[in-house]
Amino acid sequence: MAASFPPLVEPADELSIDEVRRYSRHLIIPDVGMSGQKRLKNAKVLVIGAGGLGSPALLYLAAAGVGTLGIVEFDEVDESNLQRQIIHGQSDVGRPKAESAADAIHETNPYVDVVIHNERLDNDNVFRIFEGYDLIVDGTDNFATRYLVNDAAYFLKIPYVWGSIYRFDGQASVFAPTLAEDAPCYRCLYPEPPPPGMVPSCAEGGVLGVLCASIGSIQVTEAIKLLTGIGEPLIGQLMIYDALEMSYRKLKVRKDPNCALCGEHATVTELIDYDTFCGAVSEEAADAAAGATISVVQLEHMLKERTDGVRDFVLVDVREPNEYEINKIPGSVLIPKGDFLNGTALGRLGELSGEGQRQVVFHCKSGVRSAEVLAIAKGAGYSDAVHVGGGVVAWVNQIDPSQPSY
Ligand code: ZN
Repeated sequence: MAASFPPLVEPADELSIDEVRRYSRHLIIPDVGMSGQKRLKNAKVLVIGAGGLGSPALLYLAAAGVGTLGIVEFDEVDESNLQRQIIHGQSDVGRPKAESAADAIHETNPYVDVVIHNERLDNDNVFRIFEGYDLIVDGTDNFATRYLVNDAAYFLKIPYVWGSIYRFDGQASVFAPTLAEDAPCYRCLYPEPPPPGMVPSCAEGGVLGVLCASIGSIQVTEAIKLLTGIGEPLIGQLMIYDALEMSYRKLKVRKDPNCALCGEHATVTELIDYDTFCGAVSEEAADAAAGATISVVQLEHMLKERTDGVRDFVLVDVREPNEYEINKIPGSVLIPKGDFLNGTALGRLGELSGEGQRQVVFHCKSGVRSAEVLAIAKGAGYSDAVHVGGGVVAWVNQIDPSQPSY
């Protein structure tokens, strides 16, 4: 949908002489000019996160002359941030990131009004924080917050620029379903979060520091284009950057008519429980699952070996009976998670496993509940127990597409 859009912001009345001097390299670009620079001055942009993406984004938005910059960030500067979060310095270690970022912005451009939101974005504060901003730049690093940002921005009709980074790869897009009828939202692109544990975070998997600049600068470029109404924004397009190949690819993203949020028959009509939606697991469950998670491909191989009589184990499905009726992994035994929580399942598990003689493999729908049960079983002495990452969803997707999904 390559098309230009009208500017998001009306021009400010005037620029001061100091501002004209400061922004002269913008003013002499015909497409930006005095009117574009006045729009930037009048613009209110909220940046979520003053981390990897937020650091370059905030600095360049400030340098460009965006008049009001909001920062949502509750974290403090840690030494391990400095490899990429260039808005903070060594002397900022231990300080609130929002304050450290505000200082750096003022040093870069004293004409910027900085609004600090030193809190964790959640369902209770998101509307209050978002209200009044023209545009949002999303630099969050977790799926629960990404869906929260997407939904809240949609309800408030605020367009936003999204970016994500991992190791050598980055993505960026603009989601503005309320700007154009055929413009998609984040849920149109990613209707469901990945199964928990399937996509490692940068904290687990690492990120090349300078990748933040590559993606953060794309986000700022898009922000400036949207605010001033120049060029063709990444609406309906996904930019994919590969630093190792040094390649940029653009994919078309279509609006999903069945999107749960912006589709014709939307089911998400207010904010939802994003931690549950994204399957955030408890710390105990995450610890138990570390090094004790198998894939559905491994499970399929194990089941073949069990059939051939060269391996013996118990496969326990911890979902609810109604879920078990929809689809199942052949050879599984149903013991709902609740029975593990109230302690009644352990006797049954003892019988099935020959008091721990046979290995126990747990699975559920996506891998969240089975990780919790795994923690309980390990605590009860089943030290070689494992669970299946991605659960029956992955089984149906990858091994047995003939079964229905739900
Ligand atoms: Zn959508």
